[in-house]
Amino acid sequence: MNSIITYLLLYIQYLHKQLFWCLLFIAKYIPLKQWAFDDAHSPKYQKFKTDKLPIIKRFVMQDWQFLTEYYLLRYGKPLKPVKTHKGKVRNVPDDTVCPVCGAPHQYIYDNNGGKGQFKCKVCQKTFITGEQVTSPLVLKCPYCSHALVAKKDRKHFTVHKCVNNKCSYYISNVRKLPKDLKQSQRYKYKLRYIYREFSVDFFAMDLDSLPKNASSLEFRSKSAHIMGLCLSYHVNLGLSLRKTSMALKDIHCIDISHTMVANYAHTAATLIKPFVDNYKYSNLSTMIADETYIKVRGIKGYIWFIMDAV
Ligand SMILES: [Zn+2]
Ligand SMILES: [Zn+2]
Repeated sequence: MNSIITYLLLYIQYLHKQLFWCLLFIAKYIPLKQWAFDDAHSPKYQKFKTDKLPIIKRFVMQDWQFLTEYYLLRYGKPLKPVKTHKGKVRNVPDDTVCPVCGAPHQYIYDNNGGKGQFKCKVCQKTFITGEQVTSPLVLKCPYCSHALVAKKDRKHFTVHKCVNNKCSYYISNVRKLPKDLKQSQRYKYKLRYIYREFSVDFFAMDLDSLPKNASSLEFRSKSAHIMGLCLSYHVNLGLSLRKTSMALKDIHCIDISHTMVANYAHTAATLIKPFVDNYKYSNLSTMIADETYIKVRGIKGYIWFIMDAV
C-alpha cells in the first residue's frame, strides 16, 4: 500500500515536471501574441511596401511581309487573306492597315460585328483605327505580364495600374483583407499593382541655387546669432513664424518680422539640402538613426533620418 502511494506521488511529480517543460517551451518558442498582432502582414501597410518595377517593352514595328514569309517557312503553307463570305458585307474599309505590322485590309478581320474593332490575321493585334497603339513604351505588370493602364495624371507623375482581376498580386492582396470588410471600404487598401512614372527630371534640379526669397548670408555684425535664434525657436521648438518673431522681441529685444524669420529658415534649408539629399559621406563608424512619422490624410507615412554621429 505504502509503495503504491510513493509510486503515484513520484508519478505526479514526473507529470508536473513535464507540464512545466511544455509550458516553458510554448512561452519561449511559440509567440502567440506577436503572431496575432504581427503588423508586417497587415494589408494596411501594403501602401508602404516597395513594389517591383514593371516590365518595360519598347514598341517595335513589325513587317507583315516578313511575317507571312516566316509563316510559309514554319508551317509549309502560305497565310491566306481573310475569306469573304458570299452575300456578306465586309466591314473593313479598304484603307485599313494594321498599326503593328502594316498588313493591308485583306488580312484584317472585323472583330466585333462592324462596331469598329479590327484584328490582324498576321500579327494577331486587335485595334481600332486611329487609336494610338504605337506608343513607344509599354509597361507590363511584373506579376501577370498584363499591360498596365494609365489611370491618373498627377502634376509630377502618371499612375499606371494593373487592372487584371486574375493577377496574382491582386488575388493575394484581396485574400489578406479583413473578412468583414464592406465592398465600399475596399478603396482604402492598395490591392492592385501600381507603378508611378515620374515626369519630373530630378537630376535637372539645381540643388545649390538659392530661391528668390532666400536672404543673403552676408549678415550685419550680429545677424548670424539672430539667425541661430530664429532657427532654434522655429525649427527646434516648432513655434510658428509669428510666435518666433514675438519671442525674439519679448525675450531678446530683437525686432525682426515674421517674413524675415521665414527667409532665414528658407535659406538654411537650401544650404543644408545638398548635404542631406545626395552628399557622399565616407564610410562611417557610428551612425545614429531616428524614425518618425507624418500623418498625411490620416495615413501614417514613415521617415528615417540616418546620419553620422559626429
Ligand atoms: Zn498586324
Ligand atoms: Zn498584374
